[in-house]
Amino acid sequence: MATDKVLVGVLAIQGAFIEHVKMLGRAAKQLDCESRVQVVEVREPSQLAELAGLVIPGGESTTMSLFFGKNLFGELLKSWTEKRAVLGTCAGLILLSNQLEGQKEGGQALIGGLDVTTSRNSFGRQVDSFEATLKLADPALHSNQSLTTIGSHAPLTTSQCAAKPDEYHGIFLRSPRILSVDKPEVKVLATLESEGKATPVAVRQNNLMATCFHPELTTDTRWHCYFLKMCMKMS
Ligand code: GLN
Repeated sequence: MATDKVLVGVLAIQGAFIEHVKMLGRAAKQLDCESRVQVVEVREPSQLAELAGLVIPGGESTTMSLFFGKNLFGELLKSWTEKRAVLGTCAGLILLSNQLEGQKEGGQALIGGLDVTTSRNSFGRQVDSFEATLKLADPALHSNQSLTTIGSHAPLTTSQCAAKPDEYHGIFLRSPRILSVDKPEVKVLATLESEGKATPVAVRQNNLMATCFHPELTTDTRWHCYFLKMCMKMS
């Protein structure tokens, strides 16, 4: 169906896709572009043609790799991601990485495009999941928002909230780690600082953006606002 709207898709085959749909809706409201943007759940490769951007949600990258092996999605996305905006969160980052360590036995199909080396489950298993204050490197992401987690997470106390405009409260669930940024074109958008070391946890390379954490599980819409602006520029 032809439309004048900027169509932004969320891959809806597994994982936290509903949360991303809701966050994109909130972000559109915040940016006052609700009438221009339409958010759609994507289940069929044929839907890709009309989209300005796509979110590949967290969940389980091996499930998505298997799914891509059974239809045209995987192959189509490889060329599609060259021209459209993509946000990969957690398992989505794994799929967008050009180099992956800790792959499922026998390997797994990736989309690629991001010049990073990523390690699956490198922040630990489900029990090692954590929340942490991140430093935002890109001023475009700086601002103060009220940070209350939603979904199955308990509301945050004030002390858990990122207090400064250049900070963000990140939720890491069985998250991948970015072991290295392999090309100068890859911009680090956020870092996790510990023991004097800053580890990249969000990156952007041209039209591709990815996070190790789950921005859809907070009420802080900064990542989704940033992504919507990318989508609107692509359309
Ligand atoms: N460890 C998962 C994987 O390999 C990713 C976890 C997540 O997306 N929260 O796909």
